[in-house]
Order: sequence, then C-alpha cells, then structure tokens
Amino acid sequence: MNFEEFKQLVKEIRGTITCRECDSKFEDRDISLIGTILKEGYLQAKCPKCKHNTIINVFFGPANRKHRKILKKKPRIITPNDILDMQNFLRSFDGDFIKLFNKKS
Ligand SMILES: [Zn+2]
Repeated sequence: MNFEEFKQLVKEIRGTITCRECDSKFEDRDISLIGTILKEGYLQAKCPKCKHNTIINVFFGPANRKHRKILKKKPRIITPNDILDMQNFLRSFDGDFIKLFNKKS
C-alpha cells in the first residue's frame, strides 16, 4: 500500500465509521495503521472527543485507477468479544498449523 492508497483508505474509514462510544467523527490524525497481512489491515482510531480507542479490521480490494475505492467490504470494528475469542483460541492452540488448516468444521 502506498501513501496515496493509505490516504484513500483513511478517507473511506472516516466516511463509514464513527466512535462507538459517542458517535463522533474521526479526523485523519486520529487514525493510524497497526499493520497489514495479505489483503487485510488493522487500524486504530482514537476518538478526538472521548479518547475511546477503536480497532478496525479492513479487507482490501484491487486498487486500480478505475476503481478508486480500496475497501473490498465495509470496515469491521473489533469487539472485546473478538479479543476474548482470540485469547481462548490461543490458549488451546498447540502451534500445529497443519492440523489447524486441515480441520474440517
Ligand atoms: Zn468518542
């Protein structure tokens, strides 16, 4: 992701997400990138009013000239339950990725 694409991503997030606590809009400076993995990214938005931190999970689509939208689907806010689910998963995960990816559920 280059700087132009990142700016576009921040713009799209500002247009779709508000603070969960007080419904305030985010400014560019409130949004920071935590990291990206393949076609997914994690961003943090700090509310300028109540200082609540929101973690946002985004899925990137193709970033070509004709389609200016970078987001493939609506950004998803990570909830405390998502974090608990991940903690529970990691607590029982033995590190065997082959078994994990072959698991039929
Ligand atoms: Zn707020």
